[in-house]
Amino acid sequence: MRGLKLSSCSSCGGTVRTRAVSQEFEREGVRVAVSGIRAQVCSECGETYFAPGGAQALVEAVNGLFALARSNQQHKGKLTATV
Ligand SMILES: [Zn+2]
Repeated sequence: MRGLKLSSCSSCGGTVRTRAVSQEFEREGVRVAVSGIRAQVCSECGETYFAPGGAQALVEAVNGLFALARSNQQHKGKLTATV
């Protein structure tokens, strides 16, 4: 994950395209997933680049999900959000 907005991949030089991606996170046995995140993904190596501020917004969404899971005591299963 990197924060730069590029037209070509800095890892391999491949073409990056904007697409919606999903990310899954686990903390203390609680799994959460966020889908529909707009990011630029390299078509060659799969390196993902978030728009400026995008990674921070993702972290905040994930933290919110973990807080929700904890308050609801939903320690089993998975919580999913679409942004
Ligand atoms: Zn690449």
